[in-house]
Amino acid sequence: MTQLEGTVVDGVRIQAPFQPADTPDPFGRLWTPHRMVYIGGQDKPADDSTDQCPFCAAPGRADTDTLIVHRGHTAYVLMNLYPYNTGHLLICPYRHISDWTQATATERTEIGTLTARAMEVVRAVSHPHGFNLGMNQGQVAGAGIAAHLHQHVVPRWTGDANFMPIIGKTKPVPQLLGDQRDQLAAAWDSTPTALDTDRPDPER
Ligand SMILES: [Zn+2]
Repeated sequence: MTQLEGTVVDGVRIQAPFQPADTPDPFGRLWTPHRMVYIGGQDKPADDSTDQCPFCAAPGRADTDTLIVHRGHTAYVLMNLYPYNTGHLLICPYRHISDWTQATATERTEIGTLTARAMEVVRAVSHPHGFNLGMNQGQVAGAGIAAHLHQHVVPRWTGDANFMPIIGKTKPVPQLLGDQRDQLAAAWDSTPTALDTDRPDPER
């Protein structure tokens, strides 16, 4: 079906079916292999150190390159490069800590606030029917990058589990992730919030 499938470009094997760049596809987008090379470099770190850690490196780079959607004071929000679903976001503290119990009170509060905000923004942009929220603590629990804490915000749609095994084998196309980042970053500033900072916490 494609001319390039199975070939290797800059060390990256092209796997997903796609149209060559000079052939208009149904989405009218160009395929950008140079971004795949960049993402190849974002693969699993060789060890647990901060200089191997993509979540430590991301804030030092441009938002559009690292797919950062929003930067808070102690934590930031970025797109997952290997999403379980469209719009899959991660909330990371800036500090290189691995365990939720190591987070300060301020980090715990901000990660919680950013999680709720991420839900509001993704809801406004792509209208999911539900969400999975959570942190995998330790490699055995499924953490891809166990050394640096990250909270998953995964939007869910009715029936999405039926095609997940199929798209699970498909690498995300960076152009689409970039488009999503732009959309979510813009919505982050414009979406109304349910958070009323003037409302007192209920008595315990
Ligand atoms: Zn880190």
